[in-house]
Amino acid sequence: MMFAAASQPILIAGGGIGGLAAAFVLARSGHAVSVLEQAAEFGEIGAGIQLGPNIFRMFDYLGLTEEINKVAYFPPAMGMRDVRTGEQVVRVQMGDAARAAYGGFAYGVIYRKDLHDVLLNACRAQAGITLRTNAGVASFAQDANGVTAQLKNGESIKGAALIGADGLWSGIRQTIVGDGKPRVSGHIAYRAVLRREDVPPELWSDEVQLWGGEKTHLVTYPLRRGELFNLVAVFHSNKYDEGWDTFGDNNELTERFADAHPTVRGLLAKINTWKMWVLCDREPVKNWSQGRATLLGDAAHPMLQYLAQGAGQAIEDAVVLGKAIEHFKGDFEMAFLAYQEKRYLRTARVQLTARFYGDIYHASGVTRELRNSIFQGGKDAAGFAGLKWMYEGIDPHNLF
Ligand SMILES: Cc1cc2nc3c(=O)[nH]c(=O)nc-3n(C[C@H](O)[C@H](O)[C@H](O)COP(=O)(O)OP(=O)(O)OC[C@H]3O[C@@H](n4cnc5c(N)ncnc54)[C@H](O)[C@@H]3O)c2cc1C
Repeated sequence: MMFAAASQPILIAGGGIGGLAAAFVLARSGHAVSVLEQAAEFGEIGAGIQLGPNIFRMFDYLGLTEEINKVAYFPPAMGMRDVRTGEQVVRVQMGDAARAAYGGFAYGVIYRKDLHDVLLNACRAQAGITLRTNAGVASFAQDANGVTAQLKNGESIKGAALIGADGLWSGIRQTIVGDGKPRVSGHIAYRAVLRREDVPPELWSDEVQLWGGEKTHLVTYPLRRGELFNLVAVFHSNKYDEGWDTFGDNNELTERFADAHPTVRGLLAKINTWKMWVLCDREPVKNWSQGRATLLGDAAHPMLQYLAQGAGQAIEDAVVLGKAIEHFKGDFEMAFLAYQEKRYLRTARVQLTARFYGDIYHASGVTRELRNSIFQGGKDAAGFAGLKWMYEGIDPHNLF
């Protein structure tokens, strides 16, 4: 539904997956939008990302499924193996079985850069969106008529409202919520992507595989129609390096996975350069808006990656935010309160359940035995039912 849009643009700080999804949603309903990205270029790191059926439901609503399908990979199954013995703990069929369980929507995996590119191209093709780089937001102020974003380069930009989609280390969050630095989980992720031809057939798997062990796990899956192979190795560590995108230490990784199954050690040995992430989240909050300013994605509810939902929840945020602004006919304060009210319990559930899954993956002793016996007793239907609250997602046609 179209309505009289604000005369000034809506400002979005951050052009990651969440910020671009929000820009696309808002421009589609007639708003002028300015995306202010601090980096010199729009882009994403090369790494894999899982997309649950709840996210494909959003792609369907946004008319992006066809573009996503061109670059995604649809694994036939996902499973967990013991990292030492290789024993299969659980295996759940995906493909048509997952579609049937979740309203016809697929489960897939995608190269992060490809997802970002689909959103960036959609924004470029959509009227009403200005995309700016080298435009880091330093601070903002607001009054009854609008917001003013102060850029790091000294420039001031006026807008009707501000959406902070500036990620885990959000500066805008510090003005709105003021809860300091994120919580360091003590878990570190090393990520790398191989070309298909560089993975020997005996190490390749078409499925999403999680190799779980004490204080460690490795996740692997193909990407980009099966042309690439994604690896994410996670382990407990005291190392703390603020931010991300630093390089991992191969010796530390070899040591952590010294007892692992030969397939795992074989795969790890194929990688020369790892990118390292210190994994952080925050305690959930229920108020992340202030007048004409609000937060979205990791800025609002950063989560550990163990349910593979951070980007998906950011895209769901964008859809709900768009609907709220439409419903309140441009009254941003009311819309932002209604948006966070619709989002905070769902996103808090993902934040807290993700922590629990991290513990389960890394279990030892009796906890490990209990995990294996519960998982091994599960059939596809039970696995699907357990994830229903998350994968069924939100109905964009029935929000307000
Ligand atoms: C190891 C790992 C695995 C993951 N796996 C998955 C997965 O399988 N599935 C999934 O859905 N999610 C996954 N995630 C989570 C996902 O990556 C994030 O939740 C998602 O990227 C959040 O998007 P965002 O747009 O909110 O923030 P970001 O992607 O962090 O984007 C923020 C943007 O804001 C910009 N910015 C920052 N500060 C400013 C400023 N002051 N002014 C202007 N711009 C600014 C940044 O440059 C960046 O472009 C994973 C995360 C990790 C670490």
